[in-house]
Amino acid sequence: MDRRKFLTYVSCGCGSLLLNSCSTAPITDRKQFKFYPESKLNAQAAQIFEKIKQKEKLSKDIKSLSLIKEIGKKMKESINEYFYQQKLDDPTSNFNWEFILIENKNIRNAFCMPGGKIAVFTGILDVTKNENGLAAIMGHEIAHAVAKHSLERQSRALLLQGTTTIIDIFSGGKISQINRTTRMDTVGLIQQLGIMNPFNRKQESEADYLGLIFSSLAGYDIREAPKIWQRMQTYNKGKEQPEFLSTHPSSENRIIKLNEWINSVILEYPPLIIS
Ligand SMILES: [Zn+2]
Repeated sequence: MDRRKFLTYVSCGCGSLLLNSCSTAPITDRKQFKFYPESKLNAQAAQIFEKIKQKEKLSKDIKSLSLIKEIGKKMKESINEYFYQQKLDDPTSNFNWEFILIENKNIRNAFCMPGGKIAVFTGILDVTKNENGLAAIMGHEIAHAVAKHSLERQSRALLLQGTTTIIDIFSGGKISQINRTTRMDTVGLIQQLGIMNPFNRKQESEADYLGLIFSSLAGYDIREAPKIWQRMQTYNKGKEQPEFLSTHPSSENRIIKLNEWINSVILEYPPLIIS
């Protein structure tokens, strides 16, 4: 069996030896292969997040930071409430949420690390433009964390290599690709660790879908989401900085999908009243 077939086998079929490693993503029920201990990954991510806070310049824009924290709080609470109401295990029960705003106008990006560590760069605020736009970006990033995409990536990396370093966890082996498009000295640590590297297509699509759901549950107007991607495309033209689009390869298809999902998400996942 070649390596690719093996991967397909374990990720889709889940061999009996690896039965305990199989689970499904929340809401979408996509089968996932995860055997790396989540508590370990979250602890490693928290350590890196601390380093990022030390190394990067944190923004003094209190107004934007307050908005980010407010959106984050609403999403956190509505996610908690949703899983409680559905009598399902809350995938965020072990999260230690944290929200920061990094001063860097050159970077139109944001990320969410395992365990709910969210960072927004001031550069992306020009694209998000309003509260609903910011919620769309945060919802997408939060969805990566809620669906444990890094845990899947890490489990795959371990399976292939037998051993891995913290750099591998977030890199997905695409560090060189990022290096080409970024100035290493400005965001050295984050880029080296590949924290903003693209996830695979299924994970990206899942984050788009779940992102809409979490934004809707938190009471935001999700019709802003496809507009964000359109604005990204406009901003991205001719740019070589680490844009959201460079870590999130966009396509017309992505925007079409978002538009297809919007109405059903609004109907099926209306805002939850948080008491
Ligand atoms: Zn993404």
